[in-house]
Amino acid sequence: MKEKLEQLPKRAREKHIENKRFFTKLKKRPPKNLDYMMSELHEAEFKKTDCLTCANCCKTTGPLFTNTDVERIAKHFRTKPSKFIDEYLRVDEENDYVLKKVPCAFLGADNYCSIYNVRPKACREFPHTDRKKFHQINNLTLKNVAICPAAFNIVEEMKKKLGK
Ligand code: SF4
Ligand code: SF4
Repeated sequence: MKEKLEQLPKRAREKHIENKRFFTKLKKRPPKNLDYMMSELHEAEFKKTDCLTCANCCKTTGPLFTNTDVERIAKHFRTKPSKFIDEYLRVDEENDYVLKKVPCAFLGADNYCSIYNVRPKACREFPHTDRKKFHQINNLTLKNVAICPAAFNIVEEMKKKLGK
């Protein structure tokens, strides 16, 4: 996996123009069964890819924290939301709460998340490849294929199924 992750940004760069073209077409004319297709591709990929051997999203990117996330996690730590924010979060250019630093402070050396049951919604949903109306998050997916090997593979499978 280590080697795969090292090569991923380069592989994503090589596919970027092709992927961009593909997603532009997809947005214009999404197939009727897109939600169903994505759910099948997502499931098949995550049968092969074990996030515990990877954790690249937690190591390199980290999620956005909504106010609900902050309240839930602060409650878990029996602390005040403002204290949790002070310790772990900063506000980014888009005015969202994000991690002060990566790798995420809640990621263990064994790649387990120490706040798994209360983790942010964005962590639960990453890499968003089984969400409904997948064609509406093209720009996000174009970025995620450079971070997430599963998202990269899913997009490659999509292109095979639907034609580049
Ligand atoms: S979601 Fe993607 S980047 Fe995150 S751990 Fe799983 S395979 Fe790796
Ligand atoms: S909260 Fe957990 S799942 Fe989310 S980035 Fe941190 S370690 Fe990963």
